[in-house]
Amino acid sequence: MKRELCIGIDLGGSNLRFALVDRQGKVLARCAEPTRPAAGLQSLLTRLLAGVERLRQEGGGLGYSVVALAVGVPGLVCSDGVVRASVNIPALEGVSLARELSIATGIPVVALNDANACALGEKRYGAGRGYRSLIALTLGTGVGSGLILDGKLWTGVDGAAGEFGHIPVEPDGRPCGCGSRGCLEQYASASAIARDGDDAAAVARRARQGDAAALAVFAEAGRYLGIAVAGVVNLLNLEAVILCGGVARSFDLLESSLRRELISRTFALSGGRVRIEPGLLGDDAGVLGAAVAAFGTAV
Ligand SMILES: [Zn+2]
Repeated sequence: MKRELCIGIDLGGSNLRFALVDRQGKVLARCAEPTRPAAGLQSLLTRLLAGVERLRQEGGGLGYSVVALAVGVPGLVCSDGVVRASVNIPALEGVSLARELSIATGIPVVALNDANACALGEKRYGAGRGYRSLIALTLGTGVGSGLILDGKLWTGVDGAAGEFGHIPVEPDGRPCGCGSRGCLEQYASASAIARDGDDAAAVARRARQGDAAALAVFAEAGRYLGIAVAGVVNLLNLEAVILCGGVARSFDLLESSLRRELISRTFALSGGRVRIEPGLLGDDAGVLGAAVAAFGTAV
């Protein structure tokens, strides 16, 4: 076994997280800092490179070399490597992030959508092990997904596939930032679940104490998720749907209404066999999945 490592980076709207990862998915070192999206592109690139350098040195100290890195970004990463439609980090708009980082570091770099990174992480090291076709949903401030078909990430002809959060679930529903209305994201994201000044985690605590209104909020979010999941299961006959992201910590509160809706809207064959499971990697899904993508370039 070659003594080779990769760096996985999760470039989130709030936090920039780095992990030094071996082929078995073991994290040997990590660091993190606030993203500060308003500081601009140069500041972000400088801090990305500083984090990479720090972990490269740690890897060197352990006798390994870093052979590639990958970064998961919140936005569309087109087939040409250019980041588009990054709502949380507008400074990345139009930037060929992988190219910039590869020139600066001298090693191969992959940029990919953050939900696609989570899907790769859960598939290789988490709840997706043993499945060849699955969708990993990222339920956070927004709703995204990564789709793995027959063992391979499906990113679409332009790199824009997997926008699960913008599947319509109400024809005349709430307006969405994407320009449409009634998108799932408006009903099942952390922002949609937040109520009366409480964030989604606080609503979940109230629900677990038996608060009927809070329980109803999660039942409704689960129902809308079930509608969208049913559409995907009918279309693709997947083995598993894996729920990741902050809202997935409330899997127990979403599960029954999601399953009820799914079963009522799918054929028994596909709806009855699909596994609905919470992710196993928590906040590490993004950095581990990015490392999977990086190792993919290093073989
Ligand atoms: Zn939308």
